[in-house]
Amino acid sequence: MDIKAVRDAFPILHQEVNGHPLVYLDSSATSQKPVQVIDKISEYYRGYNSNVHRGVHTLGTHATDEYEGAREKVRKFIHANSTQEVIFTRGTTTAINTVAVSYGRENVGEGDEIVITPMEHHSNIIPWQQLAKATGATLKYVPLQADGTILLDDVEKTVTENTKIVALAHVSNVLGTINPIKEVAAIAHKNGAVILVDGAQGAPHMNVDVQDLDCDFYAFSGHKMCGPTGIGVLYGKKSLLNEMEPVEFGGEMIDFVNLYDSTWKELPWKFEGGTPVIAGAIGLGAAIDFLTEVGLDQIVEHEHKLIEYARKQMEQVEGLTIYGPEKRAGLITFNLSDVHPHDLATVLDAEGIAVRAGHHCAQPLMKWLEVSATARASFYLYNTEEDIDRFVQGLQTTKEYFGDVF
Ligand code: PLP
Repeated sequence: MDIKAVRDAFPILHQEVNGHPLVYLDSSATSQKPVQVIDKISEYYRGYNSNVHRGVHTLGTHATDEYEGAREKVRKFIHANSTQEVIFTRGTTTAINTVAVSYGRENVGEGDEIVITPMEHHSNIIPWQQLAKATGATLKYVPLQADGTILLDDVEKTVTENTKIVALAHVSNVLGTINPIKEVAAIAHKNGAVILVDGAQGAPHMNVDVQDLDCDFYAFSGHKMCGPTGIGVLYGKKSLLNEMEPVEFGGEMIDFVNLYDSTWKELPWKFEGGTPVIAGAIGLGAAIDFLTEVGLDQIVEHEHKLIEYARKQMEQVEGLTIYGPEKRAGLITFNLSDVHPHDLATVLDAEGIAVRAGHHCAQPLMKWLEVSATARASFYLYNTEEDIDRFVQGLQTTKEYFGDVF
């Protein structure tokens, strides 16, 4: 991977923050956008801004071709069988809520079980809590091991023939744990349940093959994978999506509307009520082109090297606690002695280094870790060892600053 060429593609990285060159280590919250994506969105608004699937005029046809072209790029990217299985949503959150409401209300009832894990993002907890409350189903958790992983034995014990839905993250946004999706899918299916994968931290960082994983639903967000905000994807198996009711009703998603009844368009459009996020989808298509051109395998390898390097350097810092397993995706969550993560992030920010601090939308996991908050450094294809050196230096500066707590 030509790291200089990659970095050159991201205008935002070439600036000073608080008098220091920016080190951006918050890509798990949202990634930066390459010029290819920014230009593609600008081209749409400058050159062919128009609604899709409506007019017969030239601009409208152009916009529709680009919008549907982006869908095909997503299909290829996640190895789905058909573009009918690719629904554009506002993001991971909307995608998971769509399944919880549409599939959940139809297929889950009293006495049934929904199985998740304590490492989930709030977006993959609350929709299931709400579904359980609305239907009388029970929400069950696969326990975590001390290192923040799950055991398949525990999945076997937790998932029963009463389980209707298993939902878990591909990659934990706090621990970096990579879950064994294929194996969990097999256990879910053996018990007659469907599996939803929260791929918010998976799709940006690894080759995702939804057919190989055999997951029923896979949700992810464009903004974490070099695309714009406001666009995400719900992948679903066609056989399931076909049976599901839309959750939003209005323009775009209908076939015929009568005074007292209506019928829906076929997949995927029946789930895309209203004017879609056209520029967002087109931008996501450009992001996929960009990531594909750099090469997902190269990105994975680059992140792996960064993680190894970061871990080694961070281990030199006295008073540092790193959370999560040895084998992890491209992020490291930690605490530095008794320094509150917000204080730590503030000192780092003064050095031009952006990290995340807080509960990371994972309060149950914070409780499990027995902390109120943590700091997190997350890496992506544009980060370098120099970024990590600056970050570790920043940790040392923080220690000096808060010297009395050590
Ligand atoms: N799931 C995980 C694991 C995440 O990290 C995030 C975002 O941080 C989400 C879900 C929610 O994504 P969005 O806010 O884009 O809907």
